[in-house]
Amino acid sequence: MSQKKVAVVAVGGNSLIKDEAHRSIPDQYAAAQESMRHIADMIAQGWEVVVTHGNGPQVGFILRRSELARHELHAVPLDFCGADTQGAIGYMFQQALHNEFLRRGMRKQAASVVTQTLVDRNDPAFSKPSKPIGSFMDEAMAKDRAANEKWTVVEDAGRGWRRVVASPLPKRIIEADAIRALIQAGFVVVGVGGGGIPVIEDEHGNLTGVEAVIDKDFGSSLLASMIGADLFLISTAVEKVALHYNKPNQQWLDRINLEQARRYQAEGHFAKGSMGPKIEAIIAFLERGGKQALITDPENIGNALAGSTGTWIES
Ligand code: ADP
Ligand code: MG
Repeated sequence: MSQKKVAVVAVGGNSLIKDEAHRSIPDQYAAAQESMRHIADMIAQGWEVVVTHGNGPQVGFILRRSELARHELHAVPLDFCGADTQGAIGYMFQQALHNEFLRRGMRKQAASVVTQTLVDRNDPAFSKPSKPIGSFMDEAMAKDRAANEKWTVVEDAGRGWRRVVASPLPKRIIEADAIRALIQAGFVVVGVGGGGIPVIEDEHGNLTGVEAVIDKDFGSSLLASMIGADLFLISTAVEKVALHYNKPNQQWLDRINLEQARRYQAEGHFAKGSMGPKIEAIIAFLERGGKQALITDPENIGNALAGSTGTWIES
């Protein structure tokens, strides 16, 4: 096989929603166009790219619509919210990439893969759901949903009640071989949206979707390992990762190794729910044999790949 440099690029929420005031579909598409320009730069430099993405806000919108339309229409289970958002976001990225390649005269095509991610049905996360999803509810509604729809609900300090679901660890990307084949055939792939649609397997290998969510950085890391990616790039809202983030003694990191990443993580430098899972996902990628990972923001992808910015984490 030819020597292709393969990168899994996990794009964060800021690649689709810039701020609260810009979350309409045209706004999301405009943001996607901008992000895909940076991805196209990478591709123009010779990288084969799998783009993965989050879907938290988009799933929230579907759940809200579903909630408001309850008197008339069926509810949308969480695994279907995942599938719907993978399709819609895949569509945006494919179209933005298509138009960008056309503009540059690049002979390249993008394709999206609806991706399922296997989780262990005995994952301890299922016994203590912790990830809030959907709208806030009053106590009566929360208790009703808990009784009639088997939701786990929790009170969120004064703000009302919310449904919580499990966030199990991804075990296998079901469509990894399909994604690898597409990459080898020269396609740009959009996949593992929202970390993949969580599915469990029975003793015969049959898959069933579950009402859970997967961390997109963990799902992307697993895909990067499964396809033997040369680079795992996490594109988010910061140009670099810092020690003592947002404190007077903040110190930006240029290049660290696996052992430093583990130590800084243990020292609590990376916030839970934002930078923490990214570093953990990168540590897992490097522990499974990955060589290098990079964290930067979309605008700086080109500069970071040229070595002039971003935070590089290497085995
Ligand atoms: P995404 O949507 O890309 O997953 P997140 O908001 O989950 O983005 O995570 C990225 C955010 O992590 C950054 O915007 C930053 O505010 C925050 N963050 C937390 N700790 C750090 C750190 N040590 N260095 C840099 N950023 C950090
Ligand atoms: Mg995040």
